[in-house]
Amino acid sequence: MNTAHYDVVILGGGLVGASLALALSRKGLHIAVIEPHPPSERQTTLDDDNEWDARIYAISPANRQWLEQLGAWPQEHRIGNVHAMQVKGDHGGEIMFDAHDAKQKRLASIVENRWLLHSIWQQLLVSEVSLYTPAQVSALVREPDRVLLTLQDGSQLEAALLVGCDGANSWVREQIGIKAKIKPYGQSGVVANFHCQYLHGDIARQWFVGDSILAWLPLPQQRISIVWSHPNPDTLLSLSAEVLAEKVAAAGQHALGHFTTLTPAQAFPLRLIQPEHMISQRVVLAGDAAHTVHPLAGQGVNLGFGDARELERLLGNAKGSDVGEWLLLRRYERARREAVLAMQLGCDALHQLFHTQLPLSRWVRNTGLNLTNHIGPVKRQLARYAIGF
Ligand SMILES: Cc1cc2nc3c(=O)[nH]c(=O)nc-3n(C[C@H](O)[C@H](O)[C@H](O)COP(=O)(O)OP(=O)(O)OC[C@H]3O[C@@H](n4cnc5c(N)ncnc54)[C@H](O)[C@@H]3O)c2cc1C
Repeated sequence: MNTAHYDVVILGGGLVGASLALALSRKGLHIAVIEPHPPSERQTTLDDDNEWDARIYAISPANRQWLEQLGAWPQEHRIGNVHAMQVKGDHGGEIMFDAHDAKQKRLASIVENRWLLHSIWQQLLVSEVSLYTPAQVSALVREPDRVLLTLQDGSQLEAALLVGCDGANSWVREQIGIKAKIKPYGQSGVVANFHCQYLHGDIARQWFVGDSILAWLPLPQQRISIVWSHPNPDTLLSLSAEVLAEKVAAAGQHALGHFTTLTPAQAFPLRLIQPEHMISQRVVLAGDAAHTVHPLAGQGVNLGFGDARELERLLGNAKGSDVGEWLLLRRYERARREAVLAMQLGCDALHQLFHTQLPLSRWVRNTGLNLTNHIGPVKRQLARYAIGF
């Protein structure tokens, strides 16, 4: 059987892999994507105004701009804007910052997972990228100057570089023997969408309530999406739509009045994943394959887009030479390590701080929020940090 040759093969066509493929292809590189789930499986009912995906992302302004440049940003009518963010502690602590603090038009854009993925894939389907889907890799062989992949149907692909974008349980990571430190948070992220009685005013709201963290994120009109990081997700999943709506509204002190459930709750277990390395011979990891973070800052996919942008910059500049060269991969890891670690440690520290029940920690965290709220430069820095700058 003939072997197909590429500069880069990307395993996994999720948000990170698909957008990276598009970006590298626009730089003139010869790219292939291997993805088990074909786009037909992702057929959406986007025209149905009642069907809203409960899995949403708060995309930072820088990443939104990048996706816009790729022509992969969805149409505005299903996108929520965050102009301000209010965070409340568990004992009177409160901080509020807005787009002005971060010197931006908006702090973040709230977009549905399905809608964004659909939009990126629409561009992929008309691009130069070779799409192997539905497809799975059965064998991966690395040689000093190339990587060889055999698919389950027997087809063979060869590339200078393999990028593993195959998510938190990465097959690539396992195959190449990169060990990962995995810390379960003992919580799940429960997501659902609601119609609210009052206008949300484009404000994202977050509460640290006891042993859980609740976020309300504004969708268009009077809709919100929630991410409730909760130790006992079943106690929420088992509720009827009416009771769940009331529980969520009450947990936020009815700040937006009464709620009606639009999309039933789903739960995703939360884990901190820290692989020892993001690179190995002829292979790099990106997106959740390379790192996960607690969703309390909504930065998981933003970090992944950050990886993709760095790879676009480095590999785009290396076009015409060996894009799998070790020094280039080292540069990628060095460039991303700090940003990833800072976000992982920052979210982890916040999670720990708000889950310690000692009276002093309660005082520290709530006083800290109030103090930060009154110190302009610190607050501005926090606002920029919160949106992924
Ligand atoms: C509850 C919750 C809320 C979140 N909220 C936010 C938020 O507000 N903002 C934010 O930035 N992030 C958020 N995140 C994180 C975000 O979901 C992830 O960071 C993001 O989906 C990672 O994208 P990815 O493309 O790296 O991986 P995935 O989205 O996991 O995509 C992996 C792809 O690889 C494919 N694949 C899997 N195995 C193989 C294989 N063997 N071969 C080939 N392909 C394979 C899969 O089919 C899939 O298409 C949240 C996460 C959770 C759990």
